[in-house]
Amino acid sequence: MCCGIEPLGQNPGVFSPEGAVPPPEEPEACPQCGGKVTKNGTYWVLNWLLMLTLGWLGVQRVRIQRRRCKVCGHEIIAPERARQAEARRVWWCQVGRLVSLSRFKLGLSVRKIQVLVGFVYARQVSIGYIERLTQRIGKRAESALARLSECRQAKALFLLYDETYPKMKKRIYSLGVAICEHGLIRSVRCIVRKARDIPTQLRSVTGSHFDPQYFLTDLDVLFNKYMQVAGLELTHLRDRVHLIRQIVRLFDDAVRTVTLDVPKRLSIQERKQQRQLKRRLLRKRLQPMLALVFKAFSPGYESICVLILEGVVSQLRDPAYIIQMASVQALARRLQRFINKHGEATNTLLQLAVEQGTPTTTNALESKNGIFKPFSLIAKFFPLPERCQSIFAAVALMENFDVKTRGPNKGTSAMQRAGINLDDFGATDFFSAVGLPKPQISLARITD
Ligand SMILES: [Zn+2]
Repeated sequence: MCCGIEPLGQNPGVFSPEGAVPPPEEPEACPQCGGKVTKNGTYWVLNWLLMLTLGWLGVQRVRIQRRRCKVCGHEIIAPERARQAEARRVWWCQVGRLVSLSRFKLGLSVRKIQVLVGFVYARQVSIGYIERLTQRIGKRAESALARLSECRQAKALFLLYDETYPKMKKRIYSLGVAICEHGLIRSVRCIVRKARDIPTQLRSVTGSHFDPQYFLTDLDVLFNKYMQVAGLELTHLRDRVHLIRQIVRLFDDAVRTVTLDVPKRLSIQERKQQRQLKRRLLRKRLQPMLALVFKAFSPGYESICVLILEGVVSQLRDPAYIIQMASVQALARRLQRFINKHGEATNTLLQLAVEQGTPTTTNALESKNGIFKPFSLIAKFFPLPERCQSIFAAVALMENFDVKTRGPNKGTSAMQRAGINLDDFGATDFFSAVGLPKPQISLARITD
């Protein structure tokens, strides 16, 4: 009864007085040929204006008087028809905004969105419509993200990059995410072939107004190579948390790989006990040194972090301090190699953090990955990586404009923090960036 799709005119009893034909206002002559205009029947259309303004309460139909020229057949557009046409356009725009919000912020499935629209407006939209809209918004979001580096903006020194593995297509592909120190997501890309896709992404993320100097990643050795292939000459820094984790791993290895040097006649059981004991004692002996490592990386020790690590190596090599068993010697060697490899970059990382307040971790990036994760459940239904990529682009753009309501960035969006010039960008919010600006309907149209 109320969904407005049953055959017209069969049940006139349900229509309100709103649906009555307005008093005739006869135009004298046809604007095309000057011929005589006469009434030519009536037809019912959905009352889009009521549906837009009153939601599910408003679904009714309105009868429109058709007028035609007797000579040339030209139809005069009734004011009511023009009014409804505008309301219809605005209604679809508003539904498009609702679908986008549900899709890219709330992460609802297509079917749930269909239920939601039906509940709000008592009118169904098709699954196909929601899918096509998702796709179109995604494409626009991708090009909006691509525009970021060409907009005037605040200086950003850091390019943070990580590859995350939402559960997409049994990990056939992953998602590469690039942000700057302001937390602005600058690029998302589905990675199918790392050696090709990651350099392409790194190259495309920089631009005339985003020219970072530092590349901050985890310890994955290939990132450095990809950066060079991309033709970027950035100082490669490694995430503090991953550095600490790597050192902890070296210490754990040293404990695990202890060897026994005991009389042969011991039973297997006794050898096992001996080994357990040796491990436990070594762990205890190494504990103060590991504590020093944590201290080295804690706030306030930035200037001497690497020096403390060097000190730990000296302690490990000191027979007066610790017995020089094979696994301890290996630990000292590996820690020294670690310092040789990462010492300089670690000093730079910590120095920048102290002097310019730049990040020492990729935590900001990992929290963005957390935002993408729920969408991977939706994305895995898309067979093509390009379609996935556009969904994630829209999620990223929505996130960039999202004004945080709590946490250290409360009250600001990433776009604001990164100082993106919105005139250059060409939109002031997510919806206008993807071609769904707030619909405008003139008051005259409503009260007419
Ligand atoms: Zn005419």
